[in-house]
Amino acid sequence: MKPLLINNAWVTTSHGLDNINPSDTSDIENEYAQAGRSETEAAIEAATNAAPEWGLSSPQQRHDLLHKVGVEILARKEELGTLLAREEGKVLPEAIGEVNRAGQIFLFFAGEALRQQGDRLDSVRPGVGVEVTREPVGVIGVIAPWNFPIAIPAWKIAPALCYGNTVVFKPAELVPGCAWALADILHRAGVPAGVFNLVMGPGAVVGQTILDDPRVDAISFTGSVATGKRVAEASLPHLRKIQLEMGGKNPLIVLDDADLDLAVNIAADGAFFSTGQRCTASSRLIVCEGIHDRFVSALAERVSALKVGHALEETTQIGPVVDATQFAQDLDYIEGARAQGGVLRAGGEAVERQTKGYFLQPALITETQPDMTINCDEVFGPVASVIRVGGYDQALALANDTPFGLSAGICTTSLKFASDFKRKAQAGMVMVNLPTAGVDYHVPFGGRKASSYGSREQGRYAVDFFTTVKTAYTLP
Ligand code: NAD
Repeated sequence: MKPLLINNAWVTTSHGLDNINPSDTSDIENEYAQAGRSETEAAIEAATNAAPEWGLSSPQQRHDLLHKVGVEILARKEELGTLLAREEGKVLPEAIGEVNRAGQIFLFFAGEALRQQGDRLDSVRPGVGVEVTREPVGVIGVIAPWNFPIAIPAWKIAPALCYGNTVVFKPAELVPGCAWALADILHRAGVPAGVFNLVMGPGAVVGQTILDDPRVDAISFTGSVATGKRVAEASLPHLRKIQLEMGGKNPLIVLDDADLDLAVNIAADGAFFSTGQRCTASSRLIVCEGIHDRFVSALAERVSALKVGHALEETTQIGPVVDATQFAQDLDYIEGARAQGGVLRAGGEAVERQTKGYFLQPALITETQPDMTINCDEVFGPVASVIRVGGYDQALALANDTPFGLSAGICTTSLKFASDFKRKAQAGMVMVNLPTAGVDYHVPFGGRKASSYGSREQGRYAVDFFTTVKTAYTLP
């Protein structure tokens, strides 16, 4: 059984959980110790005790730690990518790409540790000097989802440590393998005792203990809207800083003047790659009348030809759905869309392979209306629906007509419409002639409305969440 990491000690527990491969449910990757309330509280205690010293550690020490971690992740990207593909079901090239990204994030924040800045200003009062500096927030609870098992933890843990905070990390139940590997790398890289702690276990126990503990100064959370709201409600009594990254129902508009082949590739990639299990997935395809039929025919052909299978097989393009619950939910949404009048134009059926896994041929549903459930709820699977519109104005209005606001895309060759869309899309990220999913690690990530709450993640903007500003006045 692989243990928890608390105060630099590996801790086993009486209860473990199997890490099951969604491409082959007979393949158990490993068993992972499950923390209860007491182990989680011990991790919070360790992080609390370690916070003052780590908060005053030198930028060189933080740089060196993060650099070492980043270098090891990159050096082991094939091996860690294989682990990721095995536990989450991303196909191997995508899994290696995600590991690569995690390594780059650590290297980016290694550099940021050396670039921390403040301001020195003259006061409006004669003779008085003013300094504006940034200090660590303290103990950060990191609560992560299963769909990016190493990149999301990396983009929370690396900046937390970079800016002098200590961390209690609770990964999602379905993906303990990458979380454990990351903890092992941090431990061997020399992270001081208590500065980083790993507590695996159920959200209702481990997550809830983090939420309830007043010693946790901030929580960086990614997951569903429902859990995000719980994080917010539980944090308010503590007046604690929170950062929530939640769901999406991301629109991709295809205008009549779009390059058809490019638009089909962008839609197929954005909607179905990574099995559609991305918060930035293009789940609503809003297509103008003049190109609609050609676009739908070409995309349906593309979708039917996508090779679904074992994530580690070389020919596979789309890996399995992550588990039985998500698989059943995806099928329910497809059935529900048909019942409400949608046409299943391609895919949408469970498929069998040599191993027992959660294989679903990506589903393209056409002739849908904006208010149908399939166009309102986040499915979080390889399912996309098409809404036919008359022109750009209607497309823009529909794109914005959602409680979510994470990513929004447009396929067009018109500078006029592209510029207007960049300005008017109510989303945190806008893509022109690019899939709604797939972002850089050195620029801000996040959304609006029900998709995000709090300051942005990633890039230099991460400093806003992971530090608190101090203004010091001096009369010499
Ligand atoms: P989830 O909300 O079920 O779980 C997220 C995390 O919260 C898990 O670690 C879980 O154990 C924990 N948790 C559950 N109950 C808790 C509680 N009571 N207290 C504290 N923690 C608790 O989400 P998921 O199914 O793991 O992930 C899928 C969701 O994540 C989708 O909605 C997706 O859109 C979203 N997501 C968003 C982004 C983004 O950046 N916006 C990125 C990836 C995934």
